[in-house]
Amino acid sequence: MAIAMSILRQKKALEEKDRRYLWHPFTQMKEWMEEDMVIITEARGSFLKDIRGRWYIDGVSSLWVNVHGHRKREIDDAIKGQIGRVSHSTLLGLTHPPAIELAERLIKVVNSRLRSRDSGLTRVFYSDNGSTAVEIALKMAFQFWRHKGVKKRRFVSLRNAYHGDTIGAVSVGGIETFHELFSPLLFKTYKAPSPYCYRCEFDMRYPKCRLHCLRVLEEILRRHSDEVAGLIIEPIVQAAGGMIVSPPGYLRGVRRLCNKYNILMIADEVATGFGRTGRMFACEHEGVTPDILCLAKGITGGYLPLAVTITTEELYDAFLGRYEDLKTFFHGHTYTGNQLACVAAIASLDLFKKERTLMRLQRKIRILKEGLLHIAELPIVGDVRQKGFMVGIELVMDKRTKEPYPLKEKMGWRVCYKAREKGLLIRPLGNVVVLMPPLSISVDELKSLINITMESIREVMS
Ligand SMILES: *Cc1c(COP(=O)(O)O)cnc(C)c1O
Repeated sequence: MAIAMSILRQKKALEEKDRRYLWHPFTQMKEWMEEDMVIITEARGSFLKDIRGRWYIDGVSSLWVNVHGHRKREIDDAIKGQIGRVSHSTLLGLTHPPAIELAERLIKVVNSRLRSRDSGLTRVFYSDNGSTAVEIALKMAFQFWRHKGVKKRRFVSLRNAYHGDTIGAVSVGGIETFHELFSPLLFKTYKAPSPYCYRCEFDMRYPKCRLHCLRVLEEILRRHSDEVAGLIIEPIVQAAGGMIVSPPGYLRGVRRLCNKYNILMIADEVATGFGRTGRMFACEHEGVTPDILCLAKGITGGYLPLAVTITTEELYDAFLGRYEDLKTFFHGHTYTGNQLACVAAIASLDLFKKERTLMRLQRKIRILKEGLLHIAELPIVGDVRQKGFMVGIELVMDKRTKEPYPLKEKMGWRVCYKAREKGLLIRPLGNVVVLMPPLSISVDELKSLINITMESIREVMS
């Protein structure tokens, strides 16, 4: 009893300080002030533990990053071992074994998965988060054409796209609620339709539409090809836009159009990379190789911030010259290629091999799919989208008319709060309930994740 009291007192004290000193991301702080906070103090495997000693399934992999579970021995050991040598130096004018080894490993894994006619993706540029990986891709593409003496300076991006929160990344974003406000600060881009079949912009249906959205994209590229430097896309799944899964053939079509109009294709696999969609990279599903590939989130197994922008030898070569030619890529972040993050990423790649993570994932993807069939039948579930271990359950007020719930109903959140009471931590995207567990989740844990989600949706209905 005395212990319980002291824990509650401790929790209260932390909450007070949190309210006083913190400003949380993507959070209306006025509401946060009323929140009964979940204060995470520990984790193991697929579970997070709060200060009261309650365990929760980590249903969105700690914001889409965790791959092999928490406190994975191999990753823990790799980081501890590296701490005993050096935790951080720099890649500006120096180099170090973890950055070198990881770059080699990434090039090997990427090229074994994404085949292409030429030498493929060969060069790794480090940074430390998804947004910077995207900024780097945009600047590389822009500068590449400069060096080629071609005046291509614009980008094409998709509606409902999310590429991060820095200004360049927001410029190529397409989510109105997040991005509209900042429009005076952004550079101009051409926006192509989102391959969002459930709410098709053209009121068409796949496959009868014969990918009409691609034809609209082609029109944009055809008209502006002499000024478009690159096209940026989240391959297969527009994640933050609501787990929007593109129909078969769409991504391949985008690649074909980029070739046809001589436009660099930038694949933002920050969310989809490292097994999330059931393959190592989402581009694999359609046999596509981009010109620039952005990876972050899962790269360290969900341990530490790290990102890479990987590109081709042709693009890299265009930046070579004499010192005074100023062809250098003038970009770099202080913690670029941090040692601890790199060894975590190497350990994570080792685990994919050793534990045959992707092979073992396939059965779990099928179990998830079966569970979702039942959830799809619920009267407030309009659409269920799944690609591998990325799931979006779109809640609607009227299943027939697809009328969405108004923002103020906070339907997504209401489901997530119910789930929390039942021992599952998830976070919605508006009216879309997101499920994205660690790839290492056990079958039993996965089943309980599905059941809790189902129950939670049922309860908010009544
Ligand atoms: C999360 C995300 C980003 C941004 O990554 P940060 O590390 O949060 O900056 C970029 N692109 C996609 C597709 C993402 O899901």
